[in-house]
Amino acid sequence: MIDSSTYEIDVVKAANSKINGVNFDDLQFGRVFTDHMFVCDYIDGKWQKPQIIPYGPLSIEPSARVFHYGQAVFEGMKAYKDDLGAIFMFRPQENFERINKSAARLAIPEFPRDYFFKGLKTLLDLEKDWIKVGLGKTLYLRPFVIATEPAISASPANQYRFMIICSPAAEYYAGEVRVLFAEKYSRSADGGVGFAKAAGNYAAQFYPTELAKKKGFNQVIWTDANTHEYLEEAGTMNIFFRVNDTLLTAPNNDRILDGVTRKSVLQLAKDYNIKHEVRPISVKEIKEAARNGNLKEIFGAGTAAVINPIAAFEHADDVFELPKLENSYASFFKDKLTRIQHNLADDPHGWRYKV
Ligand SMILES: *Cc1c(COP(=O)(O)O)cnc(C)c1O
Repeated sequence: MIDSSTYEIDVVKAANSKINGVNFDDLQFGRVFTDHMFVCDYIDGKWQKPQIIPYGPLSIEPSARVFHYGQAVFEGMKAYKDDLGAIFMFRPQENFERINKSAARLAIPEFPRDYFFKGLKTLLDLEKDWIKVGLGKTLYLRPFVIATEPAISASPANQYRFMIICSPAAEYYAGEVRVLFAEKYSRSADGGVGFAKAAGNYAAQFYPTELAKKKGFNQVIWTDANTHEYLEEAGTMNIFFRVNDTLLTAPNNDRILDGVTRKSVLQLAKDYNIKHEVRPISVKEIKEAARNGNLKEIFGAGTAAVINPIAAFEHADDVFELPKLENSYASFFKDKLTRIQHNLADDPHGWRYKV
């Protein structure tokens, strides 16, 4: 899959590794970063020679457009190591295509495929000791692009920086997740940027999520901006409902992020003959199913947590507690996905990508 292009990446190695100071048994998500980072600038209409340099602060002018107009997109992906020390990623082609889809929507120039894959490979070769063996142990990778041109006129920049930073991660356990179905605020709208992994989409959810937290809920499940009657996604995860034995999730549109985990769950549902429907899901039907005892599960799906079961939801002051299941779909999909990711199971769809 890697283009065997001949250009070189300049590598400046860190003088010392920080790895011995890191407690891998007590990692908080996204707080510790590895020794190196990938950097590539866009200047004069083209992406310049990529570099890998020691991880550290950037020097960027305060007038850089990213600070004023939020011209920024990102990705989230993971690297895994098997018992023999081989390193894998999970469907990275999807992330590559998506960052460029996100970039196009924010008027950011697309990043070349061979730079992306060769950058990842070179970086992971350098940081391989940071990837630990074991189910759930990963190196989280955060590619992102920011507008760096120092000029505060409101128009697309002509200078950008593409970077990849890496953070070791333990299995993500969010605890008991209670969610609120959105009734007033919206994450995205028709014709907007909801489908893009745009930095600003996250900033816009923080305030309503803080309000939900004050009411005792951890996250908001976003509903359609027009009517607030249809359930869309969790804002960092796509969302699935299990009514009796049928798995339900909303169709993709320009308000919902097209998640790699979501599409993998749907494929696994197909593979294992689990009934599934991709269609608009109303708040009303989910509340009815909860009242009748037919709603068995709700879970989120996204790279960071893989699958995140939801314990309860609230809407219009009605609170519903979900049953605790022995053989949940959530644990089934999590097990299947993580085993494929860690090279512990067959991979019939070729999702695993050997670095
Ligand atoms: C990243 C993200 C997801 C999950 O996508 P994955 O590709 O599965 O990690 C879902 N919703 C939003 C808004 C996201 O940013």
